[in-house]
Amino acid sequence: MADLSLRNVKKIYDNTVVAVQAFNLEIADKEFIVLVGPSGCGKSTTLRMVAGLEDITEGEIYIGGRKVNTVPPKDRDIAMVFQNYALYPHMTVYDNIAYGLKLRKFPKRVIDQKVREAAEILDITELLGRKPKALSGGQRQRVAIGRAIVREPQVFLMDEPLSNLDAKLRNQMRSEIIKLRQKVNTTFIYVTHDQTEAMTLGDRIVIMKEGFVQQVGTPQEVFHHPANLFVAGFIGTPQMNIFDAQLIRDGERYFVELGGLRVELSAEKTARLLAGDVASQPVKLGLRPEHLTLTDRDEAVFAAVDVSEMMGSAVHIHVSACGQDVVIVVPLSEEEETENLPMGLPVRFTFRGSAAHVFDAETGQNLEYPRAEPSQASAVEEAPPAEDSQDAFPEEPEEMTEEALAAAKLGDPFEDY
Ligand code: ADP
Repeated sequence: MADLSLRNVKKIYDNTVVAVQAFNLEIADKEFIVLVGPSGCGKSTTLRMVAGLEDITEGEIYIGGRKVNTVPPKDRDIAMVFQNYALYPHMTVYDNIAYGLKLRKFPKRVIDQKVREAAEILDITELLGRKPKALSGGQRQRVAIGRAIVREPQVFLMDEPLSNLDAKLRNQMRSEIIKLRQKVNTTFIYVTHDQTEAMTLGDRIVIMKEGFVQQVGTPQEVFHHPANLFVAGFIGTPQMNIFDAQLIRDGERYFVELGGLRVELSAEKTARLLAGDVASQPVKLGLRPEHLTLTDRDEAVFAAVDVSEMMGSAVHIHVSACGQDVVIVVPLSEEEETENLPMGLPVRFTFRGSAAHVFDAETGQNLEYPRAEPSQASAVEEAPPAEDSQDAFPEEPEEMTEEALAAAKLGDPFEDY
């Protein structure tokens, strides 16, 4: 158990690649923090600096109040679970979990107790006698987590631990990690490129892009109050629709105008825009697909159906409107049945003023939050489509991987792998 502090942390690789910069974060004891962002944004680098597997170019990292910049990884009291965490193929699950403790000369009785406790937490007690080869991908990853749990680290680091699993297993393991977190009372930092994982696991989420933190907040905060266009597009599925629109200030009231429809912004939004003295201007207007409603009224945005997708509990209607593709999510009630809407069908939609997000057309900054987190890298640009890695778990545990080497540095006995 420990709190962490990252102060103005910067990492430059090989004097050229700036991987992370201006990273500031205070992590409370027992908090579950998720670092999320597209590939290459600096998540793993940040995690590896906390672990001590990468030097810090500038800034300071504190764990439990102790500055650890020059403390070797194995003395940081950290455990890390990786994407490809190789297990010893010739050892049983029990021995895989116990091995590190054996090397550290813990008494047999203590080892047995710790292994069984970890197995209980991870629901793998009945697998303790098996070899890794006879385990599914999800079970292997649980064993890997078991190895980390028995060390009772101050901080638990996880680097994309689920991305080698297929979609179904990933969902299952996600719930397992939520349970794990309730049972293992420690501080977690979890890296993923998957916004759903971030939203479901994190107490707070750190959204990164090109080495810069874009926003830090609870899942609710980043969903309802995205600091900029990048966060708006990255968090939430289907992605937020972004339109070129007009913000109009009329005295103490604000409106947005889109495709001939004028909607007054909610009192809450109006108050924030007034506080920032925001003027009428062209904006990027963000509207989540689930906040668009079909209507018969004339005051509406006119659209034509491209395709509709039946998702079970909702229909996702893809339409063309205002010269672009737009997604509308229409929830379905239990007894409701719907047929797919034919291509070209004219429809109209509207939205409420409380659902409209207005962003600076140039910088992408949310106009309600002009002084939010630094976002140098957030110029207007949509977030990339969500990645979906469904690669199969490798059949055979890997050779001495880079990750196993890293584990060795963190005090796990992989040298003789
Ligand atoms: P993420 O985990 O978000 O995918 P990384 O932290 O792995 O991103 O990488 C951030 C940036 O640093 C990328 O541009 C990546 O190419 C670069 N990078 C990562 N590791 C190294 C390294 N060992 N040497 C040089 N550049 C690296």
